[in-house]
Amino acid sequence: MSSGTIAFIGLGNMGASMAANLVKAGFTVHAYDLNPTALAQAEKAGCIATSSALDCIASANTLITMLTSDDIVTELYLRNPGLFNHLPSHCLVIDCSTINPQSSQQLASAAQAKNLRCIDAPVSGGTAGALAATLTFICGGEAGDVEQAKPILLSMGSQVFHAGGAGAGQIAKACNNMLLAIQMAATAEALQMGVNSGLDAGTLSEIMRNSSGSNWVLDKYNPYPGVMAQAPASNQYQPGFMVKLMLKDLAIAMQTAQLSQSDTPLGQHAQQLFEQLMHNYPDYGSKDFSSIQQLYQQPHVNPRR
Ligand code: NAD
Repeated sequence: MSSGTIAFIGLGNMGASMAANLVKAGFTVHAYDLNPTALAQAEKAGCIATSSALDCIASANTLITMLTSDDIVTELYLRNPGLFNHLPSHCLVIDCSTINPQSSQQLASAAQAKNLRCIDAPVSGGTAGALAATLTFICGGEAGDVEQAKPILLSMGSQVFHAGGAGAGQIAKACNNMLLAIQMAATAEALQMGVNSGLDAGTLSEIMRNSSGSNWVLDKYNPYPGVMAQAPASNQYQPGFMVKLMLKDLAIAMQTAQLSQSDTPLGQHAQQLFEQLMHNYPDYGSKDFSSIQQLYQQPHVNPRR
């Protein structure tokens, strides 16, 4: 059993399972979310529900946040309620949200000015990884702080990487998710060409999975409905990693490319394809990103054909 009190803010698709796994590992977890339903579920999982972010951090020596976007994270830490003004100086802050590398750097500097320690630790592995405690944590910050966070992170995941200084975790995550978006679109494209030419999607998937086109999407996350029973594609593209979150990550990747003067034509094209998906199917924002297969399945709504 581990000891220590952890404050956990953001109990959504990812955070709920992550907080529950910390409880299972023996930590005392004080939890907070704006959504009362999420808070009640966390309480059922053994967390101590709190009534505000300030209440949540009151007796914590570690704070973890798992929130949706840049605006929400910076507002919470720097403005309202401005958690950095209220945290005890010994506290280690671990922000697991996927946000802009520049925002993570800004947070790390603001934390340092208050004698606090803050690392960025975005994750890979999706909701299934959060549930099974097999997430990969991609950290940016001081090596000693990452080392201190490790036992906590390994209660929610199976791998912890230190990418570099503040914001480096977010840069590595942006590189990974740009690659994932390209891989997903490319896999959907190849599958549809085969199906349109008379092949069976399952047979073709198995052929490519065991040939040089093999990739993570074919292995674990096939976008063609019915090929992989556990994949979101076989359940109306739900639950999973939402299209709107992939678009957020692609925007971060494109900004990272611009700032580093990197050419990313495939990343740009993947971004356009996911935007096209949202344009053709406005309610697909909350569907899994493997629903990009729909763009290829429904050629009459894809102006590129
Ligand atoms: P989510 O929208 O399901 O959860 C966010 C939670 O934060 C919600 O429950 C919301 O009520 C809460 N919240 C928002 N503002 C708040 C505030 N001010 N105070 C307290 N609670 C607040 O999102 P998610 O899918 O859990 O994703 C969280 C982060 O993880 C995102 O940055 C996402 O990009 C990243 N991520 C998600 C996945 C995935 O598969 N879902 C995979 C990897 C990384």
